[in-house]
Amino acid sequence: MRPSIRLGRFFGIDIGVHYSWLIIAFLIVFSLASNFELTNPQWPPLVIWSLAVITALLFFASIVVHELAHAAVAIRRGMPVRSITLFALGGVANIEKESTDAKSEFWTAIVGPITSFVIGLVFLGLAHATGWRPGLGTPASPLWAGLVWLGYINIALALFNMIPGYPLDGGRVFRAIAWRITGSHDRATRIAAGVGQFIAASLIVFGLIRFFLGAGFGGLWLAFIGWFLSQAAAASYAELEASAALTGVRVRDVMSEECPSVDGNTNLRTFAEDYLLHSGRRCFVVVENGRQAGLVTVHELKHVDRQRWPFTTVSEIALSFDRIRTVSPDMDVTQALQIMLREDVNQLPVISNGKLAGVISRGHILQFIQTRAELKAA
Ligand SMILES: [Zn+2]
Repeated sequence: MRPSIRLGRFFGIDIGVHYSWLIIAFLIVFSLASNFELTNPQWPPLVIWSLAVITALLFFASIVVHELAHAAVAIRRGMPVRSITLFALGGVANIEKESTDAKSEFWTAIVGPITSFVIGLVFLGLAHATGWRPGLGTPASPLWAGLVWLGYINIALALFNMIPGYPLDGGRVFRAIAWRITGSHDRATRIAAGVGQFIAASLIVFGLIRFFLGAGFGGLWLAFIGWFLSQAAAASYAELEASAALTGVRVRDVMSEECPSVDGNTNLRTFAEDYLLHSGRRCFVVVENGRQAGLVTVHELKHVDRQRWPFTTVSEIALSFDRIRTVSPDMDVTQALQIMLREDVNQLPVISNGKLAGVISRGHILQFIQTRAELKAA
């Protein structure tokens, strides 16, 4: 997941939030405030609200530190990390490569929960140092209330993340262990995805039972997390099946060689009406002075105001080959797919000996997998 809003750069890693995070940020501030109001009604609203905001910010900072811990180990083990994104259900470090060995997977995963656990102990330690004791009941001062909540929530986060449901950290740790024992990454992923599905289903059932027994929102929340986990486990399983279907397949096997071309001087209205609509294709090679200069797709066209179409040429909006990512015909398809996902593009030009050999798109790859699956089923 890529950040929608960038907050800044830290050790060369982009840190940002996804839009879905905003909802959860508000929910947490509101629930903290109502919680403080309930336990300490004598506090003035200004104290309650500023405490809620500061506590929530420190909580999100704790999640970023958790993700930075994953990132630090990943980078040390040769897996580059591009960004860290906070979203509705927590944080995610976008590691560019899968681990190549069980040991790297194990340490990259387990360092997160360990970090959260330590952060929790530090907050509780700070509360303790200022005189708070666990037996005292409801923390009486705003400082204690904030520190104690942060302490327990981080420890809860560490425990929750250690549930062995892939793709939670615990599921990755579990997969690393299964990988070590079976010696096969694919088998370990299948086992971990299966266990993940089982745990997800149990959470849903347990959450719904609690909900019907009167636990209310807490029960539903648990069921929702179960549902999210089951989706994630199914997705990682499908990803595995897809990459198994693509083993040994090269870009040249999947790419489309016939690439319709368009002259660079064509204006966008003509391009849209005579080329795109007419052919139903989404991607064209731009030719300037008889030379293939770049690519143009529906995507670039959409960025130009419709009224300017007659006065803008295809060359002006084309993606020049010097500036975009290209792939070679001999590259593995899975690698090309990873590049598309990372760069968030739908197609890549295939260049061989400095000349355009074709175009590979997500659609081509999907079609390839479907054809293979149908042949297998027949
Ligand atoms: Zn984690």
